[in-house]
Amino acid sequence: MALPSVKEVEARLGEVNCAICKKNRFGIDSRSVTEDGEWKAICRDCFYTFPVHTDMAFYLQTQPDIPYRLKEISCTACKHRGVTLDFRAVLSVRESVYFVTCPHCHRKFPERSFLESFE
Ligand SMILES: [Zn+2]
Ligand SMILES: [Zn+2]
Repeated sequence: MALPSVKEVEARLGEVNCAICKKNRFGIDSRSVTEDGEWKAICRDCFYTFPVHTDMAFYLQTQPDIPYRLKEISCTACKHRGVTLDFRAVLSVRESVYFVTCPHCHRKFPERSFLESFE
């Protein structure tokens, strides 16, 4: 599974809001972009930073219940159930977001983490 590109991650982060200032313009700190997939995003308005995890192959290996939960997510466009996980962002201790793709219609959308209640 290849890591997403920095440009793709930056563009898709624009679909969520900053935990601090609620704006939605983010960049990826280029110094944090490494093969381990642990990147750092920064809000262009208030300079708040938060981690973005892009190595989902590793994540799915270590969190065996996640694939089952992904099967429960319905596409916001075609209602197909079951999505693929592209990357995730931890916006705050209470808010982590999965960025997923519908394999049926290829719509990409953010999904609030279902793990929130366990954290
Ligand atoms: Zn901000
Ligand atoms: Zn769909």
